[in-house]
Amino acid sequence: MTIDFFGAEKKPRKSFSSNVKEEVLLAQKSKCKKCGIKFSPTIRPHYDHKNGNRSDNRKINLQALCANCHDRKSRKETTVRASKKTVKEKTKNGVQIGKFFRF
Ligand SMILES: [Zn+2]
Repeated sequence: MTIDFFGAEKKPRKSFSSNVKEEVLLAQKSKCKKCGIKFSPTIRPHYDHKNGNRSDNRKINLQALCANCHDRKSRKETTVRASKKTVKEKTKNGVQIGKFFRF
């Protein structure tokens, strides 16, 4: 059992680890997968789940995108999902549809 600094028991996180993020970044040479823009402190990488499954945090399912490309992709996905079931409003309120709403 590992105890961290605050004495809480460490449990595997649900979100993907920064380790995986680094590996993804490295594999993409710190560039956006779609448009190829180089990431910098002002252009932060956004991590996208290729298959849309937010709990699938394997490196193979993740890609680093710039804000523009990520925004475009998520908007498209939201529209697709919203047309199946009206969950668009839930997304606006910050509810993670991927986690709690499986249809
Ligand atoms: Zn991009």
